[in-house]
Amino acid sequence: MSSDVDVCVVGGGLAGIAAGLAARAEGASVVVLEGSSHAGGKARTSDGLEHGPQSFNGRYDVFWQLLEQLGLTATAERVGPASSTRWLARFGRLHALKPSPLTLFGTRALTAREKLSLVRDATLGGPVAPAATLHDFFAQRFGASFAEGPLAAMVNGIFAGDPRELGVDGCFPGLAQRAVEKQSVVKALLAAGAPSARKGIYRLAGGMGAIGAAARQKLEIELEAPVRELTRDDSGFWVRGGRDLHARAVVVATEAHVAAKLLWPLSPKLGAALGQLTYAPITVVHWEGDDARFGGGFGYLACPSERLFALGTMFHGNRFSTFVSGAVADDATLAAGIAADVRRLTGGSVGRVLRIDRWPNAVFQPTVAALPVRDGLAALAGEAGVLLAGSYLGASAMKDALASGFAAGQQAWELSQRKPQWSRSLS
Ligand SMILES: Cc1cc2nc3c(=O)[nH]c(=O)nc-3n(C[C@H](O)[C@H](O)[C@H](O)COP(=O)(O)OP(=O)(O)OC[C@H]3O[C@@H](n4cnc5c(N)ncnc54)[C@H](O)[C@@H]3O)c2cc1C
Repeated sequence: MSSDVDVCVVGGGLAGIAAGLAARAEGASVVVLEGSSHAGGKARTSDGLEHGPQSFNGRYDVFWQLLEQLGLTATAERVGPASSTRWLARFGRLHALKPSPLTLFGTRALTAREKLSLVRDATLGGPVAPAATLHDFFAQRFGASFAEGPLAAMVNGIFAGDPRELGVDGCFPGLAQRAVEKQSVVKALLAAGAPSARKGIYRLAGGMGAIGAAARQKLEIELEAPVRELTRDDSGFWVRGGRDLHARAVVVATEAHVAAKLLWPLSPKLGAALGQLTYAPITVVHWEGDDARFGGGFGYLACPSERLFALGTMFHGNRFSTFVSGAVADDATLAAGIAADVRRLTGGSVGRVLRIDRWPNAVFQPTVAALPVRDGLAALAGEAGVLLAGSYLGASAMKDALASGFAAGQQAWELSQRKPQWSRSLS
């Protein structure tokens, strides 16, 4: 393995893989140093169970760009229409929500007042007032009960966070502006995302972990090589840890708090800013059972007012993945809590717990307080001469990890081709 490269990527999650691929596509020599025993970061599969994300939204081109480069496009399978039914736990029971406007009128998941406000927004419209938090933005349009009910359930399903702290612009970039322009929040939500021929939810035949495995065939990814120190010299960086190497450009593609520790000695301001970014902890409990009695579909989300144990559950036939806030509950507490939820919601029971995945830093929280800090990172990283990649640079999702990684890899290649400082001072 080479110990002098154009680009070293620290962290072999989705952002690091995208960065490595982008730099290599330009012709750079690239090494990715990954601290754990596998590539792919949170996108990981074992024993047929996903540890982290289970599927992706096909409307985002970055996924197809990644799959194409890894030779995985043909393994992407669109989730069937039966999965389009989603359930909401509210008012003491589960309500089926199908992707049809008729659902809105028929469902008992919403109050009459909430339905009226949604219909009024979509038909009559009217000026949309700006608001910083997700809670305030939706509450002023559809009422506090909506913001604290269905909205909070959805926000838990995506961010596992508090809508009173999460920022509208951080979580759904462009939504507020579109809503102001269209004078309708519903229309702005429907217009979200770039137009794409490949809408829908997709899974990978080999699981999301296939991404890391395929990346190892295309890129030099060294596993169990945690980076502990980065130091600058005139021609780039020394990267030290599981192994030492010199690189003309470095992409730090770890979670923000890890990047904070690594980059603090190079730039205390950058380290301090990264250290302010927080993640929500999540535990995923995989279980199977023939007596769960859920009605089929994609899964359910729970409104916080229901005071259920779990945030929600995804359905896969007689297997289930239940998401619980926090990462410290012991196995017995988790099993008992989920069993109580299932009993209450369906009268059914949990069979066997298959695996428990605890993620202390699961999902970046784009809070109102974090946004100005995050917006200042690019300038600070530029001053320090490093590139950053990771889902925390966007709205916490895989698409954000990939987009930031592809961009950072391209920039790293450009940086690596600049003349070193000593040669500039001679010319
Ligand atoms: C349970 C769960 C479900 C999720 N579901 C979805 C979903 O449905 N849709 C969605 O879009 N997103 C989802 N996410 C979020 C998604 O997984 C992340 O946005 C994305 O995977 C983050 O990728 P990343 O490359 O930025 O970071 P990571 O995946 O965290 O990768 C960082 C990598 O850096 C490595 N590393 C850390 N320290 C060092 C070091 N010192 N040296 C070298 N390497 C180091 C880590 O081992 C890791 O491999 C989910 C997350 C979880 C936990």
